[in-house]
Amino acid sequence: MSSTISDQTIRVFNPATQEPLSDIPIATTIELNEILTHARNAASPWSARSPRDRAHVLTQFRKALAGMSEDLIQSICNETGKKHFEGLLEVITSLEHLKRAAGSASRVLKSRSRNSGFLKYKRARIQYEPLGVAGIISPWNYPLILSLSPVAEALLAGNTVVLKPSEQTPLTAKILKQIWDSLNTDRDAFQVIYGAGETGSCLVNSPETDIICFTGSTAIGRRIAEDCARQLKPVILELGGKDPMVVLNDAPLERTLRAAIWGGMSNAGQTCVSVERIYVQRSLYGEFSTRLTDMICALSATADETGTIGPVTIAGGYEKIIRQLKALPEATQVERGKTSMAGWFIAPTVVFDPPSDSDILCEETFGPVVTVTPFDTLEEAVRLANATGYGLSASVFTRNKAHADYFTRRINAGSIVVNDVITGYVIADLPFGGKGLSGFGRVHGEEGLKAFSHIKSITENRLRFRSEPWWYDQQKRYQDVLKKFIRWYYG
Ligand code: NAD
Repeated sequence: MSSTISDQTIRVFNPATQEPLSDIPIATTIELNEILTHARNAASPWSARSPRDRAHVLTQFRKALAGMSEDLIQSICNETGKKHFEGLLEVITSLEHLKRAAGSASRVLKSRSRNSGFLKYKRARIQYEPLGVAGIISPWNYPLILSLSPVAEALLAGNTVVLKPSEQTPLTAKILKQIWDSLNTDRDAFQVIYGAGETGSCLVNSPETDIICFTGSTAIGRRIAEDCARQLKPVILELGGKDPMVVLNDAPLERTLRAAIWGGMSNAGQTCVSVERIYVQRSLYGEFSTRLTDMICALSATADETGTIGPVTIAGGYEKIIRQLKALPEATQVERGKTSMAGWFIAPTVVFDPPSDSDILCEETFGPVVTVTPFDTLEEAVRLANATGYGLSASVFTRNKAHADYFTRRINAGSIVVNDVITGYVIADLPFGGKGLSGFGRVHGEEGLKAFSHIKSITENRLRFRSEPWWYDQQKRYQDVLKKFIRWYYG
């Protein structure tokens, strides 16, 4: 477990070693309201800065973060139990997103003219404005990027931000806030509150938040969607996944196997876009399965850097994975790597051809477990890939471009990666988000900046007419002209 909660305190542990790391006080309702008032008061001066100016502040933030990258890696690894390289990947991805978002904000958010249609004597344009105070709620599996990336996008769009990191991993967010404060500018534009679901719920339901960006489970996302619907508050929901990987007969086998292993096992399978279900075309199924078994059996889960993966970060996650595995029929072929560790360590695992209605195929697993199932036709692969209701991300492995295109068009997912896994997330200009049970709304790229913006449409006159053709004094005069216009222009 990476934290325990009492009435007033979160006690944070290293889930790999169970070593206590720190106690963090939970925000009281009074403190939360004060923070929200500060965020509201800070909104006007922060939004009055130009996008270029805000981008400059976020660039300074990035440089300070880069200077602290070792501390960030250490903090991420301590509170999640990740391996050092996994922490490093999280830091580099976070900095890349921050750099691209700050670099593009003033271009993306500048006012744009729109075609005024047949009203040529009018000027039409849109402008992007901040929404106000953004409440951002993040999960524990990537404590840096899943907080930093929406925080940066919301700030760049001119909002002030109150972040509630996961109660399991609050320490990296604490460093983020310390680094922000060290910039000595607009301290209240970015604030952090600590607590569990109740604190998150207060943020969602406060009249002082104008938009919510939630990253977490589908179950809690559904609750937050209901809360926001009641208040008519905009919400971005980045939820769970059950990503399929489709492997066709002509896939480059070596690369595909390595991708399956890394996509399913990295971060102990606790990535929203982890590979969870692998579908392999029948004539490759035997060789693929034998080779994958050999590779899985060579992997291990350990607390130190000698193993491939670390522990599962939270107790609930561990119990869910064990429950899914135990529920499989006895005859199911399951192959495992090694672990000799007590605690929440699960050996890298592959499950072959589980029943189509098993929890391990239908529910998010979020652990170092992949399933492998054969298929015959491309249509069948599409049907299997789309069978869960989730729609976060997917991958397809083939040397045939037309077949790759067939899947990229038909798989229900927010993003698809061809002959690779997960990497699409690193490309900061690509919007990221899900479909169906994986949520809605987008972060990252232009779409991410615009998601934190109010889009205002402006209409102005190019010419100074005294009246308009549809105003009462002109209706008689223009009626016949408009009828002729309909036939000429639209007919
Ligand atoms: P979770 O839903 O349990 O918690 C996420 C956050 O919500 C935490 O900060 C928690 O304190 C808060 N919370 C809990 N109840 C709340 C409530 N009623 N109101 C407001 N906030 C509340 O998820 P988790 O276990 O932290 O994270 C794992 C899940 O997140 C997995 O399902 C994973 O797939 C998903 N995830 C999705 C993405 C994505 O981008 N789509 C990325 C990472 C993780």
